[in-house]
Amino acid sequence: MVSMRGVQKWFGRLHVLQDIDFDVASGEVVVVIGPSGSGKSTLCRTINRLETIDEGTIEIDGKTLPEEGKALAGLRADVGMVFQSFNLFAHKTVLENVTLGPIKVRGTKNAEAEQRAHELLERVGVANQASKLPAQLSGGQQQRVAIARALAMEPKVMLFDEPTSALDPEMIKEVLDTMVDLAERGMTMIVVTHEMGFARTAANRVVFMSDGRIVEENTPEQFFTNPQSDRAKDFLGKIL
Ligand code: ATP
Ligand code: MG
Repeated sequence: MVSMRGVQKWFGRLHVLQDIDFDVASGEVVVVIGPSGSGKSTLCRTINRLETIDEGTIEIDGKTLPEEGKALAGLRADVGMVFQSFNLFAHKTVLENVTLGPIKVRGTKNAEAEQRAHELLERVGVANQASKLPAQLSGGQQQRVAIARALAMEPKVMLFDEPTSALDPEMIKEVLDTMVDLAERGMTMIVVTHEMGFARTAANRVVFMSDGRIVEENTPEQFFTNPQSDRAKDFLGKIL
């Protein structure tokens, strides 16, 4: 579903992504972990072209990500993204946040977009908040709306960049539960998170990044109990 080959990216002199080969199969859930500054967010952002790459190729569902233009907009719409800071439209209601993309980008009729939005809000457990503004919701509720908004575009793959790290502890579980549910429904997911519980429950694979490289990949079980590289051992020693 996602295939990166020989991807290189520099920010000035910083070689932020170094020779990345990374594949995610349809229905697979991959957790990306690694130290701060190792390139996890940049990796995610290249997959929906919020960042360009300098060398290599990225394919989504067998199609190479083009540099720009209509084809890029189409492929980008196949990739849903959820950020640490929920990034909802502050002056739009919850319902409008979820219907806007399908209406504007996918050309969905209003009534159909609204019906689908209500279904998605129900699924993520915020059905009764539809007419509120984002600021009237808790952080956990806002993040679940952000997930519903991304799903409304019917993406082929969902990227999550530390979706729970801005949340109060009691709200983390409700967002993780929503993500586990999504994984169980067969969504292809790439999740940057240090939530080991989520990795163990939902991930098929853990990818460990350090200094712009993928250093190690394994099942969650193997990775957490028996990391191979010194860098992974050192990192796990600090967070576990
Ligand atoms: P964190 O765990 O703190 O979120 P990360 O693994 O997501 O870290 P990135 O945000 O991908 O790391 O950043 C990787 C490196 O690239 C860092 O050194 C960062 O300072 C640098 N960087 C990120 N974005 C830019 C940018 N737009 N311009 C220049 N340097 C950048
Ligand atoms: Mg990051």
